[in-house]
Amino acid sequence: MENVACFDIGGTSIKYAVINETGKILLKDKFTTPKNNCSEAIPGQIIEEINNLRKNYEISKVGISSAGIIDSKNGIVVRADNFEGYSGTPICKKIESSIGLPTFIENDVNAVALGEMWMGAAEGHDNFVCISLGTGIGGAIVINGDLVRGVSGGAGEIGHIILNENGYRCACGISGCFERYASTSSLIRAYINGAKEMGIEILEINGEEIMAKVQQGEKLACRILNDFMDHLVNGIVSITHLLDPGLIVIGGGISAQGEAFFKKINEKFATSVISSYAKHTKIVQAKLQNDAGIYGACFSAIKGSQLRN
Ligand SMILES: [Zn+2]
Repeated sequence: MENVACFDIGGTSIKYAVINETGKILLKDKFTTPKNNCSEAIPGQIIEEINNLRKNYEISKVGISSAGIIDSKNGIVVRADNFEGYSGTPICKKIESSIGLPTFIENDVNAVALGEMWMGAAEGHDNFVCISLGTGIGGAIVINGDLVRGVSGGAGEIGHIILNENGYRCACGISGCFERYASTSSLIRAYINGAKEMGIEILEINGEEIMAKVQQGEKLACRILNDFMDHLVNGIVSITHLLDPGLIVIGGGISAQGEAFFKKINEKFATSVISSYAKHTKIVQAKLQNDAGIYGACFSAIKGSQLRN
């Protein structure tokens, strides 16, 4: 039985696990993400941890999920602006040359999609799109069981589908991107603006607090959530017309709202999409929560040999 050392590199912590090829988690923990000199510090800490893990486990491969633009084929972090000195790191080569184990890396949203396909909400599906709702909107596309990467590794940036060409300016420089309307941060902005129009100044509120107000039946919160769902559905409709994936898996922040939220999203979708897509397309909640990244890292290491030589 093969065991994979799996790492999920995020902004605040690096989660890690030992997972065997049947998907059983043998150990799981995390450590704080280094803040400086990440090109050395991140692979360095991962190497140290693998050496620790090898005292108790037979490890045959290493799988990594990382934030940023990732060149999976060459094992390089192309760009990761939130990590000092991390962009350009040939992370797989560094780890391989130090410990001699084949190492694979995948972008974090792609890893979530692979994890959900292997052990989660997309199990048994060869075609689906994964949407991650957070400060922005991340996306990953799986067609015929494989991630769609695009010519430069940039496919799946569904957060930057244009919903409104005269709309809010996005961090990417374009106006009216999907993520300016259907991310958690856009929900918060809409609520604060809505309150302002009513003469109420709110300096700070988070997504959970807005959802609590929805539960209490507050009119403003309900209206803002309804608009938010309309925007989200518009994006999903565009994705459906482009790819006809049959399954959309939504994870992150607001998607934790569960059944009622997804029932409403599916209802709105069915009346917004061209009718021939409605019957066979389902929008579901991601299943693996915080473990999706490490599962995806594991899966990419198990299946990754075919990608890199
Ligand atoms: Zn954008």
